Amino acid sequence: MTITDPDQDRGLYGKYRVEKLNGKPVGECFVLEAHDPHAIAALHAYVGSCAGENRALAIDLTRMADRWETEQKRPRVELPKCSSCHRERTLNDAYDYNPLQVVTGQPLGWYSGDDGEVCPECMTKMLRG
Ligand SMILES: [Zn+2]
Repeated sequence: MTITDPDQDRGLYGKYRVEKLNGKPVGECFVLEAHDPHAIAALHAYVGSCAGENRALAIDLTRMADRWETEQKRPRVELPKCSSCHRERTLNDAYDYNPLQVVTGQPLGWYSGDDGEVCPECMTKMLRG
């Protein structure tokens, strides 16, 4: 499977709306997200530039870069998706489907089988109309 990055070859464009917590206007700025593969190198470069005048910031940014690096190395978990509505399973979908739920009239859980995944909402529609 190939993951296509919508930003690939797009150049610089307005992707974020940034505001200061004190309400003052924001000048031109550049935002980096933790998952960006170049963000860690950029943080290290900034640390190298600011360390002489703001040691606390350099330390905090180094810790941030370390966290981002750990996060980027972690394998991304593929969440199960409902084969009917394509919704991803969340923590609210803690309960698995069980045929007893149908018999006893209980709310249905998330169906997960060799034939696919079905969310409780779609399962309810299928079984109870
Ligand atoms: Zn569904």
